[in-house]
Amino acid sequence: AAEEGFDVEDVEGAIEEAGHGPLPVLAVVGRPNVGKSTLVNRIIGRREAVVEDKPGVTRDRVTYEAEWAGRRFKVVDTGGWEQDVLGIDASVAAQAEYAIDAADAVVFVVDAKVGATDTDEAVVRLLRKAGKPVVLCANKVDGPSGEADASYLWNLGLGEPHPVSALHGRGTGDMLDAVLEALPEAPEQSFGTALGGPRRVALIGRPNVGKSSLLNKVAGEERVVVNELAGTTRDPVDELIELGGKTWKFVDTAGIRKRVHLQQGADYYASLRTAAAVEKAEVAVILIDAAENISVQDQRIVTMAVEAGRAIVVALNKWDTLDEERRYYLEREIETELGQVAWAPRVNVSARTGRHMEKLVPAIETALAGWETRVPTGRLNAFLGELVSAHPHPVRGGKQPRILFGTQAGTKPPRFVLFASGFIEAGYRRFIERRLREEFGFEGTPIHISVRVRE
Ligand code: GDP
Ligand code: GDP
Repeated sequence: AAEEGFDVEDVEGAIEEAGHGPLPVLAVVGRPNVGKSTLVNRIIGRREAVVEDKPGVTRDRVTYEAEWAGRRFKVVDTGGWEQDVLGIDASVAAQAEYAIDAADAVVFVVDAKVGATDTDEAVVRLLRKAGKPVVLCANKVDGPSGEADASYLWNLGLGEPHPVSALHGRGTGDMLDAVLEALPEAPEQSFGTALGGPRRVALIGRPNVGKSSLLNKVAGEERVVVNELAGTTRDPVDELIELGGKTWKFVDTAGIRKRVHLQQGADYYASLRTAAAVEKAEVAVILIDAAENISVQDQRIVTMAVEAGRAIVVALNKWDTLDEERRYYLEREIETELGQVAWAPRVNVSARTGRHMEKLVPAIETALAGWETRVPTGRLNAFLGELVSAHPHPVRGGKQPRILFGTQAGTKPPRFVLFASGFIEAGYRRFIERRLREEFGFEGTPIHISVRVRE
């Protein structure tokens, strides 16, 4: 490394940074209007969350990456959801349930000016039951005079209330220090794999694509009630299902149940549910209704799984309904609309007839294998050396940036760090990714490539 102009420490630092495993997840929960979205904005340090949004405007972004004191984590914002016709208690509980279940730690936001309400107490009960570490945020303490309001919240029995003004930033640093103490270094969820537990699968897709039907079909019995009129909230349920001679954990299967009463905020709720399931899973099976045009909503779900860095299988369902014409157009649509997961194994199934159900497990296994692939450094550099000499980066401003060497910093999904002598253009990065895939497979997995440029 040294003779290429990189400091050994720089190289090691870059590898460590790029090689982080899955990030721990922090959920921000609480009643509407206590300041959750404002707080999430503070934590992520961007104006990306939704405080300015008009009421009723749905959004689908619920997880964000954040960093505090050099540690990275994900934040799940549950602030984007308006009260629905079920009543406020049920709606707060329902959204909190999913977020808490997918989280490694929780920030519970209470409006210190208002004090603890019955709804707050209901969330406290959920938090107790979940047993996850909780940091209590007493929000809207904009000045020293509000501190007394915050201290009343000791009564909630969740430990020290952290007085915060999400709006002005007061106290947020101390609260985030407490958050870091509560968050594990690596997500709890990832330990399951290390210990050889069942692999975790999320079955996701927009409403009515056939998730419940598919689960029933593969589980071999009616364990999930299709079209259930759920009136009350339930815990997210993970189900163990025997498939292809192995046990798989299908996460959040209760989330597949429909909450037909939801009207306002239903889309947001569906997004939160999907994001929570994806966070908990290692592999996402994305179900798409082959009978209908591939929609923006389908693509958002795909993006969510890709951004979360999960192994991915695309399952086109309702294959029994397709005629020749639709099949023709579907292939074109898949090319144009699902280009971002062109590398994912694809199965054409019918939950109704059982068509190709036996292909699901091999596809999942292929995707997981790709997700866990590790390319030895020697092999990677032999490959990079050949690639760079056969296809050099275009000359820019009289200089030719070169990839000097590289290493795979992590897996699940595969993450590479490449060290270069100058700025590497996006087109050339994509070319490298394509060639890496051709050479090493990586079927069913996103791959991350970061490039370090010599100073
Ligand atoms: P959410 O529904 O819990 O996500 O709440 P929002 O983040 O949308 O905030 C609700 C309202 O409370 C908005 O008008 C915010 O500007 C206001 N708010 C949020 N945090 C604070 C705070 O620390 N101090 C004050 N005074 N107002 C706040
Ligand atoms: P979910 O909302 O994604 O859980 O979808 P459901 O499993 O409730 O299915 C929605 C509708 O599509 C139901 O009427 C199912 O009977 C129907 N359906 C599901 N899978 C198939 C399939 O493979 N073929 C056909 N023709 N219909 C299906």
